[in-house]
Amino acid sequence: MELLCNNCGAAIEARDVNIATDMAKCSNCNTLHRASELKEKITIADLLVLPPQAKVRMEHGRNKSIELTAPANGLSAEAIGITIFSVFWLGFVSVWTALATMGSIFFALFSIPFWVVGIFMAKSAINKIFETQKITFNDYEVTIEHIRPIFSSKLTLAKKDITAVKYTDVVSAGPLAGFAQMGANGKYKGKRQEFPAIITQAKPYFFFQNLPEADQRWVVRLLKNVLVGN
Ligand SMILES: [Zn+2]
Repeated sequence: MELLCNNCGAAIEARDVNIATDMAKCSNCNTLHRASELKEKITIADLLVLPPQAKVRMEHGRNKSIELTAPANGLSAEAIGITIFSVFWLGFVSVWTALATMGSIFFALFSIPFWVVGIFMAKSAINKIFETQKITFNDYEVTIEHIRPIFSSKLTLAKKDITAVKYTDVVSAGPLAGFAQMGANGKYKGKRQEFPAIITQAKPYFFFQNLPEADQRWVVRLLKNVLVGN
């Protein structure tokens, strides 16, 4: 256990703490504090203790990297619901487009937004059932992998480009982000729907949307500490 100076933020060494008199002296800024009033420095070892009944898996990788995996959800009632609905929706849009094309191609173009919505729904259903996400991080960078039957992706962000790791509203991240996250385990706050995200100047990168909230909070706290600092 290490204590942090509440004046300058430096760590106070154990030899400068006297538990009996409740005194702690910061050798960095030369101030005295009540030891019991200081915050404890959280160590990486504390942060790596998984929450009870965690669904997220943790492995130690090469070069001191740590790999976190959110396993695919498989078939849940919700995923089946979205699947049935998107099949029905796309079927309806297909019929409508076919009929409209008989009239005029131009008229059929009005179906485009409905196709987009249907495809996003189908994609989110497929992702919810089959997608495994993997986050690998070390002191310098973080890699987010989406492992799917089709369109797998892998992206690496440098630690220096990351401004925050926190729950972020998908709605304010744009309509496409909203659609892409449809049906995931967001935290609802009125009209906002929040997911864990790694944030850069350019945009938020949402991750582990389908994990239970306790797991999400644990990962956010860990990544925030390692990638942004406290
Ligand atoms: Zn200090």
